[in-house]
Amino acid sequence: MVVFDLDDTLYKERDYVESGNRAVMAWLRQMHPSLTEQQLRLIPWGDEELRVYRNHFPGIKLPAESRAALDALKSAGVPMAIITDGRSVQQRNKYRALGLDDYIPPERLLISEEVGARKTEPDAFLRLMEMYPQETDWLYVGDNVAKDFFHPNRLGWRTAMLLDPAAFNIHPQQGWQQWPPSHQPQFTIPSLKCVLT
Ligand SMILES: [Mg+2]
Repeated sequence: MVVFDLDDTLYKERDYVESGNRAVMAWLRQMHPSLTEQQLRLIPWGDEELRVYRNHFPGIKLPAESRAALDALKSAGVPMAIITDGRSVQQRNKYRALGLDDYIPPERLLISEEVGARKTEPDAFLRLMEMYPQETDWLYVGDNVAKDFFHPNRLGWRTAMLLDPAAFNIHPQQGWQQWPPSHQPQFTIPSLKCVLT
């Protein structure tokens, strides 16, 4: 089974941040119709703004490269899943906005808030293995050496890191080779299309 991280692996998280910022600005415009755009931008965010940000349905699209890789895996009959850290509402909204339900059934979207453990714990990886005991070939594809590869490495999975040469990710990859080998991916890939080979 090919298991993907979500943010900065299947799409760029900056797109989500921009979408959330737009949603909060639209909400602030309604709340304060007399203020200028510049004044609205200076309003410090509180609980309400965060609530709007976290619950908005994001305007994000699956990048062509991700779509090509997922299409190819789907037509090859390779089962896929997602293990992601985050809040349930946010991650499920991203999943639907990106159209990932065309490729991965909702029960194979494992979110840390629902699992009760982040990727720094083995729980989500173990849960997936328990759900599919017949599966022998596991691959995790992620971007963040701090948390994406340690547990799958320990559990005998293959691990691959999608490289971010433009340094566009929210969590910079710079210096990843300095991490202990236990945290490092077994492979690095320049494109998700490499998952097929
Ligand atoms: Mg990530």
